[in-house]
Amino acid sequence: MIKINENYLNLEQNYLFPAIAKKVKEYREKHPSADIISLGIGDVTRPLPRACVEALHKASDEMACEKTFRGYGPEQGYSFLIEDIIKNDYEAFGIELSPQEVFVSDGAKCDVGNIQEIFSTDITVAVADPVYPVYLDTNIMAGRKVLKLPCLAENGFAPKIPDFKADLIYLCSPNNPTGAVLNKEQLKEWVDYAKKNGSVIIFDSAYKEYIRQADLPRSIYEIEGAKEVAIEVRSFSKTAGFTGLRCAYMVVPLALKGAGKGKDVLLNDLWRRRHCTKFNGVPYIVQRAAQAVYSEQGKKEVKQLIEYYMTNAAIIKKGLSSLGLTVYGGENAPYIWLKLPNGLKSFDFFDILLSRANVVGTPGSGFGECGEGYFRLTSFGSRENTLKAVERIEKLKL
Ligand code: PLP
Repeated sequence: MIKINENYLNLEQNYLFPAIAKKVKEYREKHPSADIISLGIGDVTRPLPRACVEALHKASDEMACEKTFRGYGPEQGYSFLIEDIIKNDYEAFGIELSPQEVFVSDGAKCDVGNIQEIFSTDITVAVADPVYPVYLDTNIMAGRKVLKLPCLAENGFAPKIPDFKADLIYLCSPNNPTGAVLNKEQLKEWVDYAKKNGSVIIFDSAYKEYIRQADLPRSIYEIEGAKEVAIEVRSFSKTAGFTGLRCAYMVVPLALKGAGKGKDVLLNDLWRRRHCTKFNGVPYIVQRAAQAVYSEQGKKEVKQLIEYYMTNAAIIKKGLSSLGLTVYGGENAPYIWLKLPNGLKSFDFFDILLSRANVVGTPGSGFGECGEGYFRLTSFGSRENTLKAVERIEKLKL
């Protein structure tokens, strides 16, 4: 028989969300009439902005015409989208980037999962605990040593600067699952640490659009010198409802270097090589839809979309807080991080919530040991379901 990559056997048995989906499916089979509300997986429920849909239609029509048809596109992304990303997401915030530094992709999940390939397998990786599972699992698959950075309530769930040397560090802000956001001082400490140790930071800001507090950084490049140490990942998924359409981007600055075979190597060159070899690019019509996010109409609709979800977040936060529960997040992030009362364990609460309230959330312990005793709820449901879910939780009399 063929020998497998045994690193896969070191993974937790199931990826968190399919494991939860299985539990829900089993419950549904036993209780077919149950009206189950999901505030679990971070999938959005509002339709695409009209501006994006119109761009999709227009681009589809172009594909039907000999003169405007497009086949394989540039793997890195069409320049019309890259230019708009730079102008709107960076230059508008005082950050200069060159088009060569932006790579359009089919998802932040794929980007944060794939980027580790350009680094050696014998480096030390540090991830937060609790953590978005992709950072951890993809490094385990590659056989790397991964160290955890505990994120606790007493530090506002910010990972503490380690007293060991980590080569690759994953930071997620606004954070999934805790909803915490790193401030400029905290980010600066990380940039300084990375400079001192020759480390690289993967900064996942998939939820940047949810930041409302003006002084909180949306990009790590707001910190001076960060381009020498950080790769930034962003997504249209939670910004504009692209979870089904698929479009994201990653910035790999030209100032970022690694070492190999006795010389300095640009990480941008390595990633370009990897991207062009293994990835065919995002469909033309999807990139046109993503570009429409930056149109006047698109910006207006995105704002409304975020407002909608953040109102849901406020409803959940207010509802649970009024029950005397300790609730974090939900102010600059779409996630609510609930401290479970009476020493309740995360998976026990999952079962209680599902069976007694028919509400699905995500057990905090599924994101790491430090998530035990916590529970994540998302604001991505419909208003009606969010209100109903909070009402049902209130009736549980926790
Ligand atoms: N990064 C974080 C922190 C996420 O929570 C998610 C999705 O839930 C992603 C990345 C994935 O984004 P995408 O839909 O672009 O793959």
